[in-house]
Amino acid sequence: MDQYCVFGNPIEQSRSPFIHQQFALQTGQKLSYQAQLVALDKFETAVTTFIQQGGKGANVTVPFKEQALQLCDQVSERAKQAGAVNTLSFSDHQIIGDNTDGIGLVADLKSHQVTLNNQRILLIGAGGAAKGVVLPLLAEKPSVLVIANRTLNKAEAIIAQHNNDRLCAKSYTQLSPSSFDLIINATSASLSGFVPAIPAEVIHNNTVCYDMVYQQEATVFLQWAKQQGARKIIDGLGMLVKQAAESFYLWRGVKPQTDEVLTQLRKALTDSGR
Ligand code: NDP
Repeated sequence: MDQYCVFGNPIEQSRSPFIHQQFALQTGQKLSYQAQLVALDKFETAVTTFIQQGGKGANVTVPFKEQALQLCDQVSERAKQAGAVNTLSFSDHQIIGDNTDGIGLVADLKSHQVTLNNQRILLIGAGGAAKGVVLPLLAEKPSVLVIANRTLNKAEAIIAQHNNDRLCAKSYTQLSPSSFDLIINATSASLSGFVPAIPAEVIHNNTVCYDMVYQQEATVFLQWAKQQGARKIIDGLGMLVKQAAESFYLWRGVKPQTDEVLTQLRKALTDSGR
């Protein structure tokens, strides 16, 4: 049976094994998918061992996405631009890297009928997740894509990499008095209960706010956005499932349906606090 896994540290929280096993059942593909906890200094060894054992592909999560890029013989343009790889495919003694986070986000936004073309988009954060979504967002031709980060020079470094006149970097205070049609929180701030210190005026009454973090309840950012009058709030659970579907497609050439898995995960998340 073809073997796949997800490498990470920590990894016990990963929902990827559940998602991929559901995709395999749904599409009639015979495969196994396990989570692998990897010691911080043993990523390369873990990948090599997995390949020797017949592994066909792997997902990569925190903190190994940048290391994964270095390990690849070939990488997609979107992974190169992201500076990070979340999907590895092993074939003919080659390690091929891709990054499906951005396409997963765009697919999730579209499934919520969020328009991207010709819209003013604000991306908050400049870490691996933000970098991974810039190219797929630009491909949708927004009128402007502003990257705002607590540490401004990290946002400026992303802009410098892309050379696109729709892109610009701003500090949180420089955002005033602009407002946006779509605001994507790609920071980890919600995990520690913080809302990035952006001015409330970035939200108008038709703004959609998205948080890549997902939790049992709406994240603090999404709660704040609703209080400021945002039209719609969306968390990152759909992005998680849709980036997994893109990885599955790269490996198996079959695109799974995501709705049923998403419903099951949402239920599990809601039930976990009861
Ligand atoms: P990184 O550690 O690479 O980057 C963290 C980012 O968050 C930086 O921009 C950092 O700013 C910012 N940040 C952290 N705390 C605060 C705060 N209190 N106020 C303002 N900014 C803050 O993480 P990643 O980019 O890899 O991931 C970001 C989040 O996205 C994670 O929570 C992750 O779980 C989520 N994610 C979700 C996915 C999904 O499928 N739903 C996929 C990928 C990621 P600074 O540079 O100033 O430190």
